[in-house]
Amino acid sequence: MPLPAYKRVVLKLSGEALAGNVGYGIDSDVITSISKQIKEIVELGVQVAIVVGGGNIWRGLAGSAKGIDRTTADYMGMLATVMNSLALQDGLERAGVPTRVQTSIEMRQVAEPYIRRKAVRHLEKNRVVIFAAGTGNPYFSTDTTAALRAAEIEAEVILMAKNKVDGVYSADPAIDPNAEKYDNLTYLEVLNKGLGVMDSTASSLCMDNHLPLLVFSIMEEGNIKRAIMGEKIGTIVKGE
Ligand code: UDP
Repeated sequence: MPLPAYKRVVLKLSGEALAGNVGYGIDSDVITSISKQIKEIVELGVQVAIVVGGGNIWRGLAGSAKGIDRTTADYMGMLATVMNSLALQDGLERAGVPTRVQTSIEMRQVAEPYIRRKAVRHLEKNRVVIFAAGTGNPYFSTDTTAALRAAEIEAEVILMAKNKVDGVYSADPAIDPNAEKYDNLTYLEVLNKGLGVMDSTASSLCMDNHLPLLVFSIMEEGNIKRAIMGEKIGTIVKGE
């Protein structure tokens, strides 16, 4: 049997991915489907850490555009990621996958605080670790959280699961029918072309720390496993 291409990964799920077709909140069918897909790769012996966004519930920038103080709005966004993380933990444990949630903002009654060495120990014991509450700092994103935690735990790759696109395009394929899909990109190209893969803070962090990124669609069942097995899906972004 072919072996997985990676041993330790960070899976980044956008909040929107959890909202399914409703586009808001948490769709329990989506949680079940994603949990099943994650279980498949855990059973291959892959160590899986997850960072979940919060855009299905709250986005700091949108809140501040409506007049809420930006920092407060960002803390609200970080709390939204905790709700998503708990929903995902529940789905994973229902699927029989031992899971720990670690939060960057302490809330001990709900989850463990983020402690890098403890997170790595969980991963070594084949527990899925979900990093919640972003970086714990306003003005950052959960993409940056994924890059930061991936560097900290020495993950080999960030798997960026998208619900609307199946890779990186030259323009938004939903708007521009001539948008071209890239198979390979460098972080410099992402930054220079202003491609909306991830924000520039996250891209720079990945570039500086030589972290590859695989962008692919989560809407096709089994894609997380395909990504892990090294099949050519989506777009791979590397340093050079
Ligand atoms: N956020 C933050 N600091 C972080 C991570 C997230 O302030 O380190 C806030 C920010 O307001 C953001 C919200 O949490 O809009 C939700 O995260 P994000 O937009 O990255 O979620 P996604 O787009 O992946 O659903």
